[in-house]
Amino acid sequence: KEKKPAEGRKHQNMQNDTKASQGQWGRAWEVDWFSLASILFLLMFAPLIVYYFIMSCAQYQCSLTDPLLDLLTGNKHLSDIWNSTPTLTYRAAVIYSLWVTFQVVLYLFIPDFCHKFLPGYVGGVQEGAVTPAGVVNKYEINGLQAWIITHVLWFANASCFHFFSPTIIFDNWIPLLWCANILGYAVSTFAMIKGYFFPTNAKDCKFTGNFFYDYMMGIEFNPRIGKWFDFKLFFNGRPGIVAWTLINLSFAAKQQELYGQVTNSMILVNVLQGIYVLDFFWNEAWYLKTIDICHDHFGWYLGWGDCVWLPYLYTLQGLYLVYHPVQLSTAHAIGVLILGLLGYYIFRMTNHQKDLFRRTSGNCRIWGKKPQYIECSYTSVDGTKFYSKLMTSGFWGWARHFNYTGDLMGSLAYCLACGFEHLLPYFYIVYMTILLTHRCLRDEHRCSSKYGKDWKRYTAAVPYRLLPGIF
Ligand code: NDP
Repeated sequence: KEKKPAEGRKHQNMQNDTKASQGQWGRAWEVDWFSLASILFLLMFAPLIVYYFIMSCAQYQCSLTDPLLDLLTGNKHLSDIWNSTPTLTYRAAVIYSLWVTFQVVLYLFIPDFCHKFLPGYVGGVQEGAVTPAGVVNKYEINGLQAWIITHVLWFANASCFHFFSPTIIFDNWIPLLWCANILGYAVSTFAMIKGYFFPTNAKDCKFTGNFFYDYMMGIEFNPRIGKWFDFKLFFNGRPGIVAWTLINLSFAAKQQELYGQVTNSMILVNVLQGIYVLDFFWNEAWYLKTIDICHDHFGWYLGWGDCVWLPYLYTLQGLYLVYHPVQLSTAHAIGVLILGLLGYYIFRMTNHQKDLFRRTSGNCRIWGKKPQYIECSYTSVDGTKFYSKLMTSGFWGWARHFNYTGDLMGSLAYCLACGFEHLLPYFYIVYMTILLTHRCLRDEHRCSSKYGKDWKRYTAAVPYRLLPGIF
């Protein structure tokens, strides 16, 4: 049957439209030289950065400049530093293998029971966001349960069973770093091969043709093994984030062992980061709708990053405090606590407002009023048109990423808890500022391609990104 000319044109327009929006939905299809240079830089230097930080604590009391000075003045050679670094040990390999296996078991084989008795908690089988190919994945949300079981066992061991010392993580910190790297590289390489040869959903794969870019940013969108083992959900949350609080507890235990007390700064870091981690697991279902899960592909950036970068660099404050047991004045400690809690409040409320708004499709109240929003539309890979809304009320009317602002305030609080003697604990705020500013730009580039002129209307209504009136 012949199509009428007008119909044909409409069809063609729709295809062009589809191509355009699909092109920028998720990570890029084409690699510009700047992205490639950044990726090569990160692939080469990110593992060295992690090593440098951890080594400078172990060998230079957390001074970032002393190792460089030693090398520049010829006082030491690279080989001296390397030869003083603990190697991979059998003990660390066993600890790490047991740890990862235990987290796989908790993730795969124990369906969530927390949602059955915790009011307000969303767990069990939940749906993720629609992918560019129009797929809606199901996830078993049981991270809170995994976190609780792991920590109950940790405390049971520390107080009753004494199978191992609570300082076990600190005591094996560098050998465990090698294990984390092995897993990080193995999983990223496996994800790349899987993307080529047996992808979970071929329509959601992206190939740029550039090996390094594909390795780093991932090919598959949601690689899975079987029905339920989702790489992104597992590696993003566990083993790294469940470990975060255990690592901090191990550092606190080390302080107790070395100095006979745990300082108020270490307690602050444990409490503030503990709130952040618990918040992550309490809101794991919401997390399915964040950029990591609904836009990023799974490659080295997430695979290695979750195994190595996150557990080693997000815990630098606790590690620093083992070497420098800072006892803060009451005023300083209260200031840090207030900043940390205020940052957390802004972070959580902003995320909550968007979540509520999206879940109810705008039929809710934000700060006691019906929310205002901008209607927008986008097209998926098969040409289906979807409608969405961008809220301009509440914190989302103050700035386009006020959740990041809250996150940055909390991050600064962790650093300030460590006093002002060294640079190393401040790495986190520097890194988070770069990460979240880059994320703002990345997300806005994507949203702009996804929503087109509707995005322009939104940025006109909410002109600032992080700080109203400034940026
Ligand atoms: P957001 O939760 O801000 O999600 C951005 C997405 O939300 C956009 O792509 C768009 O998606 C949608 N959106 C944007 N503006 C609006 C609006 N006005 N109304 C409704 N929807 C909107 O970003 P992230 O996923 O990056 O971050 C989630 C949280 O995780 C943040 O609080 C961040 O601070 C934290 N985080 C922490 C990290 C860490 O390492 N500690 C790393 C990364 C994030 P759509 O296409 O659906 O419209």
